[in-house]
Amino acid sequence: MTATADYKTLAERASKELADATADEAIRWTVETFGDDFIVASNMQDAVLIDLATQVKSDVDVLFLETGYHFPETIGTRDAVQTVYPGVRIVNAQAEQSVAEQDAEYGAKLHDRDPTLCCNLRKVVPLRKTLSHYSAWVTGVRRVDAPTRANTPIVTWDDRNGLVKVNPIAAWTDDEFNGYIREHGILENPLVSIGYLSIGCAPCTARVAPGQDPRSGRWAGQSKTECGLHG
Ligand code: SF4
Repeated sequence: MTATADYKTLAERASKELADATADEAIRWTVETFGDDFIVASNMQDAVLIDLATQVKSDVDVLFLETGYHFPETIGTRDAVQTVYPGVRIVNAQAEQSVAEQDAEYGAKLHDRDPTLCCNLRKVVPLRKTLSHYSAWVTGVRRVDAPTRANTPIVTWDDRNGLVKVNPIAAWTDDEFNGYIREHGILENPLVSIGYLSIGCAPCTARVAPGQDPRSGRWAGQSKTECGLHG
């Protein structure tokens, strides 16, 4: 069997065995199983997942999709993460083209005309390339994020990217999540406090009114609801 087939079998087994695992148990399993061979993804909205991971392994790799379109506050949060968690290694995954090169080839503001292509060029492809260096990735996807995420397992096989995917806080409610931030004084992107409850690239992220679905601020006015990273 190839390593890929081995890991796929492993993920299928772990999906059942860790179906009700706590976040800590899921991260410990990841570290015990993969050692250094995994990466923790963060959009730098907060450092909850990074905090959880570094309690088990202080020198984890952290994946940030540096699309070239982020809010300054998001870049600032990324830099603050490096200060608060000095052991982590932040991997900035970038597109082949700069924004200026993309504008030259496709025209300005591709995100307004074809956000799926823009996300593919600036997120999906760089993600896949970065993940090709690892056997597992850890994400902060939660079931309450969106109806499409309602069945997110703790461990699964990511067929699209060809590696194991671990979602340690998949089962966390908003109360649990916000409680963790409060109780542990977790670093948060300052945009959260002014109503940006689901933060992506600046041109595609809007504030949401109190009580509104947090993800309704992403690609507002367009049919798109996901980057294509977790589909
Ligand atoms: Fe482009 Fe918007 Fe996707 Fe960012 S979120 S990659 S700006 S379409």
